[in-house]
Amino acid sequence: MPEIPDLEAIRHYLMPRLDGLTVTHTEAPIPWLVRTGTEGLATLAGHRFGEIHRLGKFLLFFIDAGRILVINPMLTGRFHWVEAGAKKTGRMGVIVAFDNGHELRYSDMRRMGRWYLVAGPEELPTIPQWPTLGPDAMAVTEDEFLARIKSRRGQIKATLTNQEFICGIGNAYSDEILWAAQLHPHRRRATMDEADLRRLYACMREVEDESIAIVDATVQGEGLGKKEEWREHLKVHRQGGKPCPRCGSEIKAQVRSGSETNYCVVCQPLFE
Ligand SMILES: [Zn+2]
Repeated sequence: MPEIPDLEAIRHYLMPRLDGLTVTHTEAPIPWLVRTGTEGLATLAGHRFGEIHRLGKFLLFFIDAGRILVINPMLTGRFHWVEAGAKKTGRMGVIVAFDNGHELRYSDMRRMGRWYLVAGPEELPTIPQWPTLGPDAMAVTEDEFLARIKSRRGQIKATLTNQEFICGIGNAYSDEILWAAQLHPHRRRATMDEADLRRLYACMREVEDESIAIVDATVQGEGLGKKEEWREHLKVHRQGGKPCPRCGSEIKAQVRSGSETNYCVVCQPLFE
């Protein structure tokens, strides 16, 4: 599932390329991906793309007349930026063609992604899940983070990935952040003191910032379309059985309802 560094790299790659281009036409080979309807999508023709923003796991493409195209790629949504004649790869879901002969294509192997076209910022809350989203992990201040986490009782990994607490962090980066902060994923907030929580906040920003730089460089070099997420730099996530990069102990892998949690029991002891 694409997370903040993946979406930021996609945003940084697409924004200078799309900015100022006018849509010539759209196609939706998998129409139900466009939750607000393909008729609405077709009305993008003749309109210009501008800035791209991100909130949590949503990318927001601003269109000239104030409309916003909001895309949540969910598990396997993948963006492509190609010349119109390029061969189509993957399970092609939506295509937006532009006046410079390029296309923004979106493929989605599991067809779970969601596209919404809204009339303006005031309509964003009509998008399912939107009204309950917490502040973005890259925008929340340390004070706000500390204030919000005080009312959370559950395990820390579940809290970090709860989009109502803060949004943008998923299964992969929560493992990386907790390893960096030396906190066990099942630690309860009540067992953590203020120093733990401040360290967690600092590690969250550090891990995301470092990863954004790495993924940005990769995507600028190889372009979009080959992957939906870039994970080669991760230290513990999906590294079960390998030595911990900090202490050399074996990294644990625990699978629950299909998603894997990885951690080092030596560096991330569990105090209950
Ligand atoms: Zn370790």
